[in-house]
Amino acid sequence: MIIIDGKATAAQIKQEIATEVETLISAGKKRPHLAAILVGHDGGSETYVKNKMLACEACGFKSSLIRFDTDVTEDTLLEQVARLNNDDDVDGFIVQLPLPKHISEQRITEAIDFRKDVDGFHPINVGRLSIGLPCYVSATPKGIFELLRRYNIPTSGKHCVIIGRSNIVGKPMASLMIQKELGDATVTIVHSHTQNLKEECRRADILIAALGRPNFVTADMVKEGAIIIDVGMNRNAEGKLCGDVDYEDVFPVASAITPVPGGVGAVTTTILAKHVVEAADKADE
Ligand code: NAP
Repeated sequence: MIIIDGKATAAQIKQEIATEVETLISAGKKRPHLAAILVGHDGGSETYVKNKMLACEACGFKSSLIRFDTDVTEDTLLEQVARLNNDDDVDGFIVQLPLPKHISEQRITEAIDFRKDVDGFHPINVGRLSIGLPCYVSATPKGIFELLRRYNIPTSGKHCVIIGRSNIVGKPMASLMIQKELGDATVTIVHSHTQNLKEECRRADILIAALGRPNFVTADMVKEGAIIIDVGMNRNAEGKLCGDVDYEDVFPVASAITPVPGGVGAVTTTILAKHVVEAADKADE
């Protein structure tokens, strides 16, 4: 039984990026720079942005936080996005979601230069992913892929079932897993309209749960020896952080599993940092 340790993997990736940054600087390039736009004071968003900035700083990057009050207009935000698009010192930037209801997240995302879209949310990056071209991929699915690779878990020819079809997790995860010469897996996506969900899940060699329902996946939904990837970040009735997988129940059936916390969530900010250093490396080309 393998417990896939996201924390240890993240520490290893950060170390590799820090070395890469030093190599860039020794070669006369500038220090990579991530900027983040944060609107309002939502506790969750504050924490996510703080963790992203800390991950970048740990890798030796420069980081800038640009804050706006909740009542900022869409035009002001678009002007800020345009400034960052044109700022040669900024290699990549993110606009932390969700945004207040009066601002179109779609318009803001589409205004970002896709070459600086280190979150991988811009339709150009999404489209490039779907046809197998180099692009920034949403950090969570890419982090999962990285975990599978680093734990030498084969995906080629395996049946991967993904629970959830969101634009930031389920769909890009499926794109990575079916990609020729990358995931090479057979992929099934299940969602809230799927019939026989339990049976579909039981066919999985690799089961990826990304639905946002505490302890949804139980042992009776898992094939003996399956790899279980838990993307969920939920609070249970006692207010404790838990995943979409009932860890205690599924543990004896699985051959590998990601814990929550300390699994998938631990690697995602590191993937963002990886994207920033890639962008910085390309900046002088
Ligand atoms: P989302 O946008 O709410 O999408 C949830 C998906 O799950 C939808 O496709 C939905 O189906 C499906 N679903 C919901 N209830 C279901 C059910 N009972 N049976 C089958 N399918 C069901 O969520 P998300 O943004 O992808 O996030 C999913 C979870 O991952 C959340 O817990 C979130 O906090 C977590 N997350 C973690 C990370 C990380 O880094 N660890 C990053 C992002 C998200 P429909 O499409 O039919 O509605």
